[in-house]
Amino acid sequence: MRIAPGGTIGILGGGQLGRMLAQAAGKLGYRTVIFTPEEDSPASQVADETIVAPYKREEALKAFADKVDVMTYEFENIPQQTVLFASKDKPVHPSLQALKTSQNRLDEKSYLNRIGVPTTPFAAVQLLDDLVGEAPLLGFPCVLKTQRGGYDGKGQVLIRERTDMGRAYAQMLGQSCIIEAFVEFTRELSIVCVRGQSGAIQFYPVVENEHRDHILFRTTAPALISERMEQRAQTIATKIAEGLDYIGVLTVELFETVDGGLLVNETAPRVHNSGHWTIEGARTSQFENHIRAICGLPLGPTTQTHRAVMTNLIGDDIEQVADWQAQPSTFVHLYGKAEARPGRKMGHVTQVFPLDD
Ligand code: AMP
Repeated sequence: MRIAPGGTIGILGGGQLGRMLAQAAGKLGYRTVIFTPEEDSPASQVADETIVAPYKREEALKAFADKVDVMTYEFENIPQQTVLFASKDKPVHPSLQALKTSQNRLDEKSYLNRIGVPTTPFAAVQLLDDLVGEAPLLGFPCVLKTQRGGYDGKGQVLIRERTDMGRAYAQMLGQSCIIEAFVEFTRELSIVCVRGQSGAIQFYPVVENEHRDHILFRTTAPALISERMEQRAQTIATKIAEGLDYIGVLTVELFETVDGGLLVNETAPRVHNSGHWTIEGARTSQFENHIRAICGLPLGPTTQTHRAVMTNLIGDDIEQVADWQAQPSTFVHLYGKAEARPGRKMGHVTQVFPLDD
């Protein structure tokens, strides 16, 4: 369904991704309404309107759906009931199915393997006995993760040896988990792609990601990888997007293994931190392309125009903002968050360079 400029886009979630989506929507001539439980959220500061209510409050969701022509979400831990309820009135992209798949690590990895996309070997863990049975088969070290609710390294623990199993299991407080073989990766990569309502799909170049304390610290675009690996990443992203009949921006986080293979770590049914560089470094940003896709417009070119390095400003890093602002060819984005807590993403900086530099 095509939503013409002048229409209204509803965004579930009020964080920085919602903020940058609302900015892109405004540029294309759309109005935006944010739905978030948070007062003065980063997204609501730049949107036309905000409804502040808990995600499960049905009358507020109904009022939200009444105001908009199409809906999207900016983080994957939105309750499924929220999207299901809202989608009775108006279209939601990406679909509920895409959201469900990414919300549960066991469902996600099972789906990936079913469609022939490789992941590290894994097994479901409900009871300590499951862990004690499966972990030695996967080998040590291995990683125990909650099935739900994890992001930025939350809800996961490394098991170095047999004797760590009891303590690791206890840390998960009885939540359903998966145990994964540890990947000896050489690099962490990601690919951001966008699929439109016609089924057309376009890719941004594969980028390299460095994490600190499990949080993305820096993205370098493009990653220096072979043409073959670039194509392999595109094939993986296409399989995932087509299998879900996906509409919007989809991100696939990858491990490059020591033997030159690619494994999927996880997928995100949304714009992604590793795609922020596209605002200044590509012909069309990931945010604009997501808006174009959900509104049924033609997709914009994803061609890279500049080599780019994106650095997150996390917690106290915000104090260095004046230094960044003094640098040439450097674009500073701040998210309007009042309090700089440790681990909190306060903004990001993108440095651009000529492509052939
Ligand atoms: P996740 O929350 O699954 O995205 O994991 C956060 C980070 O933990 C990843 O970006 C990796 O750096 C690391 N990690 C997660 N799973 C594994 C694994 N199976 N082997 C090695 N490192 C991992």
